[in-house]
Amino acid sequence: MLVVFGSVALDTTKTPKKTLKDKLGGASTFAAISASSFVKTGLVAVVGSDLPKKDYQTLVSHVMVDGLVKKPGKTFRYHCKYDKTLNVRTTLKTQLNVLQGFRPVLPETYASSKYLYLANSDPDQNLEMLEKFTKKVRFSMCDTIDFWIKTKRASVIKIIKRVDAAIMNDEEAILLAKGESNLFKCAKKIRAETGVKYLIIKKGPHGSLLFYGDDMVVAAPAYTLEDVVDPTGAGDAFAGAMMGYLANLNKPKVSICDLKQSLVYGNVMGSFAVEGYGLDGLLKATDMPKRIKKRAKMYMQSLPL
Ligand code: AMP
Repeated sequence: MLVVFGSVALDTTKTPKKTLKDKLGGASTFAAISASSFVKTGLVAVVGSDLPKKDYQTLVSHVMVDGLVKKPGKTFRYHCKYDKTLNVRTTLKTQLNVLQGFRPVLPETYASSKYLYLANSDPDQNLEMLEKFTKKVRFSMCDTIDFWIKTKRASVIKIIKRVDAAIMNDEEAILLAKGESNLFKCAKKIRAETGVKYLIIKKGPHGSLLFYGDDMVVAAPAYTLEDVVDPTGAGDAFAGAMMGYLANLNKPKVSICDLKQSLVYGNVMGSFAVEGYGLDGLLKATDMPKRIKKRAKMYMQSLPL
């Protein structure tokens, strides 16, 4: 089993062709739904009283929701816009709402989980969640975003120090490394400051880099697509798939080979996410597991070795 903690949001997203308003999103939503294709996944998150019933239903039909807390007030809101290439995203608004001051709880039903994914959320809350797992966690990974790096950098560093792996996109990595723009140097700097064993830097359509050991790096291309409509949540789908794959293996120790293999599924699920608006692309894949298998095969065939 895998536990995913992070934001559940109502996203307002402007893409060149369409504007979506208050669409179900959030880092833990994308990550947990993606992971659910590989392993039983329990969500820990908070929503407000305004979360539409159909959105709650979407969550319930894919993941365990014993850790999903409903509080009076508004659900977390995230507004962003993309440029015409869809490669540059600008955050327009982050409204924490019920996320502010949330104290996560670990339900009894999730207690057997040895895998924890700390999706993008307040890094102090991520720490609190991790502490509930301390002894039993076999593999943990965390994500972050510009908002938290800008407002709570010290806490972001603190959580990265405590997990086995950290995952972020190139812009976030550069921000965290205080402007170092060469990704190799950037990774070195972040790993030196945090001591994190594995660092994954995503580069959108240009794939991802996994840094480990003594300056070792694995480069994984993105799955090549003809049509991309909305990149929101692709990173979360990517990370959720990695963690779902690893949790399903359920080995006493996660090896670098396991991590490399998990990148295949990360890229595959990320590619489904960008093909549809909001969660649509991802849901189409999780509801048809054959598509995931087929795409993983295609992805592996596309590699030069
Ligand atoms: P991604 O496109 O994978 O980077 O993730 C985007 C998702 O992260 C959106 O669905 C947002 O709701 C969520 N998100 C954006 N900013 C934050 C934040 N500061 N804290 C938590 N979640 C966020």
